Amino acid sequence: MSKAGKDTSYGSRTTVVIAGRDPKGHAGAVNIPPYRASTILHDSVRALTADKPRFTYGRRGTPTTAAMEEMLSSLHGAEATVLTPSGLSACTLALLTALEAGGELLITDSAYEPTRHFAMKLAKRFGITAIPYDPLAGAEVARLFTPRTRAILVESPGSLTFEVQDLPAIAGAARAQGICVVADNTWATPLLCQPLGLGADMVIESCTKYVVGHSDANLGAVSASADWAERLRATHYHLGLTAGADDVYLALRGIRTMAVRLKAAEEGARTLIAWLKTRPEAGRILYPGDESDPGHALWRRDFRGASGLFGLGLAPMSKEALSAMLDGLALFGMGYSWGGYESLIIPADPHRSVRPYAGPGPLLRISVGLEDPQDLIADLAAGFDRARAAA
Ligand SMILES: *Cc1c(COP(=O)(O)O)cnc(C)c1O
Repeated sequence: MSKAGKDTSYGSRTTVVIAGRDPKGHAGAVNIPPYRASTILHDSVRALTADKPRFTYGRRGTPTTAAMEEMLSSLHGAEATVLTPSGLSACTLALLTALEAGGELLITDSAYEPTRHFAMKLAKRFGITAIPYDPLAGAEVARLFTPRTRAILVESPGSLTFEVQDLPAIAGAARAQGICVVADNTWATPLLCQPLGLGADMVIESCTKYVVGHSDANLGAVSASADWAERLRATHYHLGLTAGADDVYLALRGIRTMAVRLKAAEEGARTLIAWLKTRPEAGRILYPGDESDPGHALWRRDFRGASGLFGLGLAPMSKEALSAMLDGLALFGMGYSWGGYESLIIPADPHRSVRPYAGPGPLLRISVGLEDPQDLIADLAAGFDRARAAA
């Protein structure tokens, strides 16, 4: 791989352009192609068995996966990165790396719902106990520590409710007890936050969102500090988690332009939020990048920017009015996932047991894409008109 890609003195916008590149090794082509390989041939018995070649079998990686791993390790300052077929498998892999039978996991109440389901239900079959904790607990999370606590899952800002967690405080408390801190960093991406630098041991990215950025592939990644790298690699290998060549290629291609896409998404989100604040239909805005947000101070301290995903608590309205508003939107798509070029909107129903979301009206999750913000505003304004007419 290119020497420049490993130079940590560059800014992260430069790193996303240069990391994992090798034009000389690929006929001068700018991008590393998708290596679709299961079998990798070796010249001799010695080469096959004794030489410890860099690439041995497709499931164990190819130049395409190595390039993406190098990219994320450079951005996160990680010892190792592994790729998985989805963001959810990255979450389950990180937890399986950190936990063992009889161990306890503290999981933020604001975790991505499928991660929570894995922790509370599936992991339970293997003797792991998951206990949800208040995302705003900070160092107070130590009150929940027992001799069996092995890991803490942080997701900041949280899914649907966007609480910012005090990761350095949580990690400080955990480190004193040898507890592994796992951070799901999907909202921020490695460009806006680097949790390993804030004390986390492993960081998860659902690359499906901003990294791929075009709504056409699922991919996950886990990056680890030196303490956890070997165990992460071994767990990944023994679980047989291999990401497809074309999906990794799309992620590598997507991340090259992620800095400009994120900036445009943030700018769009801020324009929409400024307008929403003038509207009686809008109640609470859940966006740590906004000064009015309770997590704003922590966000300023730990993040370099905000992405384009936020929550919108509406003033009370009937189900019929909400459907009239959403069903008729021209530009906002209704669908799961986020972080693509197209704006998305969905009604959100956070499942919480420690810190319930209490809004007087329905909660929406909005992912701002790359359209003209004024067109998005006009689309929402027409939606509010339809809601009023249906009420
Ligand atoms: C979407 C998401 C995931 C899962 O990613 P998939 O590729 O859909 O499996 C994990 N964590 C967070 C925070 C997410 O938003």
